[in-house]
Amino acid sequence: MEVLDNIPIHLDPGEVLKGLHLDEKRGYLNAVQELVEIANSVIHPKVIYEVSYVDNKNEDTVDIGGIRFTSRVLRVNLDKIGRVFPYIVTIGKELEDKAASFDNLLKQYCLDEIGDEALYLLRRCLEDYLKKKYRLGQISNMSPGSLKDWPITQQKQLFSIFGNVEALIGVKLTDSLLMIPRKSESGMYFPTEVKFYSCQLCPRERCQDRQAPYDKNLAESYRKGK
Ligand code: SF4
Repeated sequence: MEVLDNIPIHLDPGEVLKGLHLDEKRGYLNAVQELVEIANSVIHPKVIYEVSYVDNKNEDTVDIGGIRFTSRVLRVNLDKIGRVFPYIVTIGKELEDKAASFDNLLKQYCLDEIGDEALYLLRRCLEDYLKKKYRLGQISNMSPGSLKDWPITQQKQLFSIFGNVEALIGVKLTDSLLMIPRKSESGMYFPTEVKFYSCQLCPRERCQDRQAPYDKNLAESYRKGK
């Protein structure tokens, strides 16, 4: 198990502006730049990950690090895989607190979006770190709760891999299985020949976070098995 707590996140105001769908020409860049500086001064990214081994592959369950997970999609994705990397990442609570200190709702909204961007960049940093350290080719990830097939209730199993996550990186799992601080994410990285996105199996029509189009045939192939 390794904890990383000195990860440099570079927030680009131009990218944040794009994410907010704001036009640079209308003079928003300076305002966003100011908020990015505030975010950079308060966020404290932390990561915990484990190197875990896969065992007992059944129809729709698989053991990871001795913990049983129930998900047909995860099981199929790990069919030929022996080693995976469960993880939890967080940018901490400080940005949320800072946003709440503003009366201006637009500023609060922008800081929230900046938090999402920082979390995304943090996960990308972890991805690059794992690839380099463990000499991996392409890797993909899945998170409990991202698909009906792998429900949010499995957060408990994922957290149990690490022990006291709150003491280690300050992330707490509530009784309703939400993570606090809110800008945290958990999941499992695994090597793949073809990049996998949970979105490919998710038919939701309007989702601004969609990373790949829905693929009905692929979704069907998971149901049947590969
Ligand atoms: S399309 Fe949206 S809801 Fe569906 S898996 Fe992707 S991000 Fe999640």
